[in-house]
Amino acid sequence: MKLYNTKSKRVEEFVPEVPGKVKIYTCGPTVYHYAHIGNLRSYICEDVLIKTLKYAGFDVKRVMNITDVGHLSSDADTGEDKMLKGAKREHKTVLEIADFYTKAFFGDFAKLNIGMPDVVEPATHCIPEFIHMIETLLEKGYAYQAGENVYFDTSKLDNYYVLGGGVSEEDLMVGVRDDVDEDTNKRNKSDFVLWFTKSKFDDQELKWDSPWGYGYPGWHIECSCIAIKHLGETLDIHCGGVDNIFPHHTNEIAQSEAYLGHQWCKYWFHVHHLVDRNGKMSKSKGEFITVDLLKEKGYDPIVYRFFCLQSHYRKPLEFSYEVMDNMTVSFDKLIKRIAQLKDDGAVDNAVFEEYRKRFTEAVTNDVNTSMGITVVYDVLKADTNDSTKKALIGSFDEVLSLDLLKRAEELSAKNSDGSNGDPGVDEETVRFVTEKIEERKAAKKAKDFEKADAIRAELLEKGIAIEDTREGVKWHKI
Ligand SMILES: [Zn+2]
Repeated sequence: MKLYNTKSKRVEEFVPEVPGKVKIYTCGPTVYHYAHIGNLRSYICEDVLIKTLKYAGFDVKRVMNITDVGHLSSDADTGEDKMLKGAKREHKTVLEIADFYTKAFFGDFAKLNIGMPDVVEPATHCIPEFIHMIETLLEKGYAYQAGENVYFDTSKLDNYYVLGGGVSEEDLMVGVRDDVDEDTNKRNKSDFVLWFTKSKFDDQELKWDSPWGYGYPGWHIECSCIAIKHLGETLDIHCGGVDNIFPHHTNEIAQSEAYLGHQWCKYWFHVHHLVDRNGKMSKSKGEFITVDLLKEKGYDPIVYRFFCLQSHYRKPLEFSYEVMDNMTVSFDKLIKRIAQLKDDGAVDNAVFEEYRKRFTEAVTNDVNTSMGITVVYDVLKADTNDSTKKALIGSFDEVLSLDLLKRAEELSAKNSDGSNGDPGVDEETVRFVTEKIEERKAAKKAKDFEKADAIRAELLEKGIAIEDTREGVKWHKI
């Protein structure tokens, strides 16, 4: 397995600390609103990374946090408390907001075939762990108290900007700007808060007792603590979007390694932005596109996943509805071709192994998903029987998760009789219902809605329900 490491700025051979086992940490969402499809691109790419590792034979344990403590954002936000903002907007408590949007977030995971992490830990469950880490950092001299808050002292480190090369000048300025203007307690402008008792947001809803007073944790501390709590003192891979590199991941490394006294995480995996013609797409800029909005506009969430897999995770990906239209056409064509494959004999093991190897080489080469999809098309053109092709496509889909065989089966069933493949329907019924549907269609065309309704009622009496869908009339036995 080859993987680009943001820390070394090059593609490296991936070697986990314990052979065969991989410990992965993913920064989770701040649950104050629906997820934007730009954020979900990161989670799709991380999902493929995890499935690739499993496909290559690794045993993977993945942990994710949920940011449900309203944090003082030290990134490009304007410094508002995100959780509190969400709660005020919807007249709910912060925890109600967190619960609602956590469910919505994992609902999007299901729609996009993103696997669930092994452990999901809300920050509010780990306050004692945060306090313990901050106490240790104070004891070791890496932290200080000022203005009733506790800060991490970045000047105590030899190399604070350890992920530095991945940070643009603009990111650095945005990260530091808020703090310079707002917080005079800091000894160095890159210092960051570990615990607040006094901030510009006095109406913070969730607060806890601590040795430094009644308050709440800074944002970065939660990922270090939650990762160490569930995965131990070392991590193999830490994932996130590129905008997490600075300050969030830089600060995670600073406090974790100061606390542990040794290297914490070896490989840093970062997914690039989703962009449109005007630049980075986000919640606050341009149209706020969610998975449900895509569905409302008639797009299949799996087609969005297909679109994301067509490009490399380390490149910006340009989104537009025109591109989604083209992707829908390509995806439908692909499913049609797979639906034509028959079960025509035994799987040819030699061919299976040859193509499985090609696919594995593609995806284990720094998660080259577009090359992986090319191998799917190569299989369809390959000189072998259909059973072997189907077996290969099913195998590749363990990584791609595009429901390729399932969609193909659904399409075949739909094409066969319009009854959605209901096995309890005999030929005579199919003929009868098809005739009635044609009759109803004609009645509707002639604007004879009474007759159309009467036909629907007649079918219902015979135990057949019909449904008008975008793909035409569907029916099933009730
Ligand atoms: Zn994090």
